[in-house]
Amino acid sequence: MKNAYHALSKIFGYHEFRHHQADIIQDVLNNNDAMVLMPTGGGKSLCYQIPAILRPGVGIVVSPLIALMQDQVDALTQLGVSAGYLNSNQSAEAQNAIEQQLLNNELDLLYITPERLMSNRMLSLIAQSQIALFAIDEAHCVSQWGHDFRKEYQQLNILHQRFPDIPRIALTATADSRTRQEIIEQLDLHNARTYINSFDRPNIHYQISDQSSKTDLLKFIKNSHQNDAGIIYCLSRKKVEETAAWLVEQGFNALPYHAGLTPQLRETNQKRFLREEGLIIVATIAFGMGIDKPDVRFVAHLNLPKSIEAYYQETGRAGRDGLPADAWMAYGLKDMMMLKQMIQESDNEMQQRISHSKLDSLMALCETTSCRRFHLLDYFGEVTDKACGNCDTCLSPPETWDATEAARKALSCVYRSGQRFGIGYLTDILLGKSNDRISQNKHDTLTTYGIGTDISANEWKGIYRQLIAMGYININFEQFGALVLTDKARPLLRGEIELKLRKPTKKSSNKSETKQKSALRDIDQELFEALRACRYSLSQAESVPPYVIFHDKTLIEMTKMRPLMLSELGKIAGVGEKKLDKFGQQFLDIILQHDIHPWFKNDLSETINSTLGLYLKQQNAQSVAETRELSLSTIYTHLSAAIKQQVIALEDINEITASDIKDIENAIELCAEGGQEGTKPIFEFLNGEIEYGIIHCVRSSLETIE
Ligand code: ADP
Ligand code: ZN
Repeated sequence: MKNAYHALSKIFGYHEFRHHQADIIQDVLNNNDAMVLMPTGGGKSLCYQIPAILRPGVGIVVSPLIALMQDQVDALTQLGVSAGYLNSNQSAEAQNAIEQQLLNNELDLLYITPERLMSNRMLSLIAQSQIALFAIDEAHCVSQWGHDFRKEYQQLNILHQRFPDIPRIALTATADSRTRQEIIEQLDLHNARTYINSFDRPNIHYQISDQSSKTDLLKFIKNSHQNDAGIIYCLSRKKVEETAAWLVEQGFNALPYHAGLTPQLRETNQKRFLREEGLIIVATIAFGMGIDKPDVRFVAHLNLPKSIEAYYQETGRAGRDGLPADAWMAYGLKDMMMLKQMIQESDNEMQQRISHSKLDSLMALCETTSCRRFHLLDYFGEVTDKACGNCDTCLSPPETWDATEAARKALSCVYRSGQRFGIGYLTDILLGKSNDRISQNKHDTLTTYGIGTDISANEWKGIYRQLIAMGYININFEQFGALVLTDKARPLLRGEIELKLRKPTKKSSNKSETKQKSALRDIDQELFEALRACRYSLSQAESVPPYVIFHDKTLIEMTKMRPLMLSELGKIAGVGEKKLDKFGQQFLDIILQHDIHPWFKNDLSETINSTLGLYLKQQNAQSVAETRELSLSTIYTHLSAAIKQQVIALEDINEITASDIKDIENAIELCAEGGQEGTKPIFEFLNGEIEYGIIHCVRSSLETIE
């Protein structure tokens, strides 16, 4: 494991393993199989990359995601790791070159699609090579219950049969226990230890609104994500096109992505999303598999996804870097109807049942009045005991109302009109509207006719939506969307149970969003932008996405730490040896240019100079202490050392007033006369009213004068 820690810091520039990473790596290094469940952004890749680097031979990584392979290989190359990939998008030449490297044992990691791996040719190539491990990424693809089933994945158990001595590690971000069980069965991982991580993504703020309007989306982006990269999901190609065009009109850099575009255009748009900063992609769900851009700051859904798994996977693409990000969704009755219809049109009965139950769970999440995160994690079988404080229902709890009476009226209206009509018509009856259809059907004679005039048409629609979502009503699409009561409706109709519903979402209060925003913006913006520009031009030169050079998180850390020397820069998370070598000086120069000050021409130590740099900016010893995570007294020790060397003067220290100086000097003199040495007697002489650190500084200033 010493080697693993060494690799972590030297190659990746990180200083600690996260969660179970260390145990997993240890297990694989010991030749054992492992099964890893971690949410998106949790750090799965390191779990196989480090053992692959440390063990002799090449780590074979099976992944269905072609786009991701290139990215991973680019990132590894920048880290100085020898990696390659094989997929059908490659030229024959490129493939030959990689195969040769494989045979020559020159690769640490090889990414490959399952269909390619399963070919006889490849299996025999592998048999001739030295293999460190097999990593089966996106392992949930073996599961039919899961949402990305791929049949080639079910053949992967061949690996175990043919190469029984090579450790295998299966990884997925899909958590539910059924999928997990299927992975173990299908891949024959019965002897593997399973590592389950919390699926919580605490940096993601969840927000779900039952009113979908474009202006709300616009407000959300303008308020919280003006120059940020984001993904907006829509259900149809048409809506994708319209929304993208509309955002461009509004002055945003937005591109469409859906299966109707040519493959070339799709690829270009995806590439631009990865390589440019602050671009918005409007997409159908065809987009996102295999995008591991770490700095996606928001994911918005303009329609309902199909299931909680899908919602969690799609929203999980936000904030992989751990910085604050938003998951924003707006849905309406129409969405729900459309999804239900799509499900009913499928002719596989079992699939229908699965889809229905998944949609119902999703609707329950949308309509919940309690913490969204609680609900999400509960769905994945994870128990949390407190509300998260970072979702819409936590931050502004929705109001509920006693809807028993209204619900009875709504259900009764469905029943009395014969369970043959849709929401619009039923609402008209409740409101006592007169029209031809109602009079032809003699529905103006029903007892429910006109009994709902105290509630608006829109509110009735909301009530019906919630009743459907809660399973009191089904929709019969063969009858053009007629509402039908379920068994569950009976006790409610009879007045045996009460029902509370949530009031419609209030127009957005952006409290939480602004809070998030400042968390990310609470840094020296000017320096951050300068570092970002440097990163961008390097990324262009290397023709990789900017985050492959350094993550935002690393740049933010630079603005806070203000390293003045390479050795200090190298301590920042994300700065490994290779990157320090290759890019360090350029970033350092920018920080130096930014901070340049006569103070810095001195012989003081690096750490004192870092304190000085920050003090110059922040003008407050306490905040320098917090930023540097050092004690206040250490900061004063640094400042007094600088005073002693006459790099700065006592007057440069804001915390020291002229009258303090007089008092301290006086006290120093008296103590010296009394033969008392050190700072303590002076401190006591001043009744403990002036901090030690400040006394130190004044003493240092006297020592320079002597
Ligand atoms: P996943 O594949 O689980 O979605 P990744 O492997 O892409 O996640 O890791 C997510 C991010 O976390 C990456 O930017 C990665 O560099 C970073 N990361 C992983 N492990 C660590 C660690 N031990 N310390 C700091 N950052 C880490
Ligand atoms: Zn919450």
